[in-house]
Amino acid sequence: MRRPGGGVGRPGDVAILEGSDLRVRDRRGNPLLEGVELSLRRGEIYFLLGPSGAGKSLTLLALAGLLPRDLKFRGRVFFKGKLLSALPPSRRRRLLGKEIGLVLQEPGLALDPALPVGRQVAEPLRVHYGLSRRESLTSAEAALAQEGLRPAGEIGRLYPHMLSGGMRQRVLLAQVFSLVPDVLLLDEAAGALDLLRRADLAWRVRRETEERNVSVLWVSHDLRLARALAGRVGIAALGRIVESGPPRAVMEAPLHPFTAWFLGRAGSLGPPAGRNWDEGCPWREGCPRAGRRCRRKPQPEREAGGREVLCWNPRPR
Ligand code: SF4
Repeated sequence: MRRPGGGVGRPGDVAILEGSDLRVRDRRGNPLLEGVELSLRRGEIYFLLGPSGAGKSLTLLALAGLLPRDLKFRGRVFFKGKLLSALPPSRRRRLLGKEIGLVLQEPGLALDPALPVGRQVAEPLRVHYGLSRRESLTSAEAALAQEGLRPAGEIGRLYPHMLSGGMRQRVLLAQVFSLVPDVLLLDEAAGALDLLRRADLAWRVRRETEERNVSVLWVSHDLRLARALAGRVGIAALGRIVESGPPRAVMEAPLHPFTAWFLGRAGSLGPPAGRNWDEGCPWREGCPRAGRRCRRKPQPEREAGGREVLCWNPRPR
């Protein structure tokens, strides 16, 4: 069975969150995502890697249904088999938080500047789990303490601007983990954390997947973290995922020339001049493997070992 997006299905694989043919354009009609296919399986950690501007964060926002309003979206998002992208925004918001936890790259944008951070952790617990005010504040304190924000009672009374970037990110993590979601969407979630906190986050994410079968989609630049933690990685470029598979296989023997470049291989192809996929593979001018077929838009090709690549002539480098 073929799974979209970096998803070569093994028997028994069950996708919990799927994006199919995700397309995003800016208000001038410029393409930002050009048909992303991504399938997140239950209990897996999937790292979405790639250079800035490749569409990683947009993919995550498109899956969560949280794209800025001035962007045009087309495509389908399934969550637990239901068409999430067809739900009214109010129902989608209810799912978001309780079942799908999201940590954005810039924690300042996700927090309300006018509310103490303790209440921002407590409020979703009241909304989603019906806790009383006192119960939710007690749980919020415990969640803040779990993130190393101590004394949690005092820190909970502070406003976001009174905290460092790293502390704000930990507040968001406290908010997300306290809701016990089934899916975690993390956008550079370790970016503002120190080494110790980063290691702690990695350990907790792994524990969540092992003990609760949580599925994690992690947008990152951190190849070492991906290699240590991921079950699969996807490489984003020019608004699509050009290659995916187990981290070791992808990093040691990339099949797509762009993956080789991204991983710093000598003599490999860099970003192409154009980015119009509809006119064929954007790398075909200058790609030593280019052939006639490369004038057509590459489609995901399944390869051995659970890999998938957007290339008409893939070869390990
Ligand atoms: S599709 Fe063709 S041009 Fe594009 S990377 Fe593969 S071989 Fe090169």
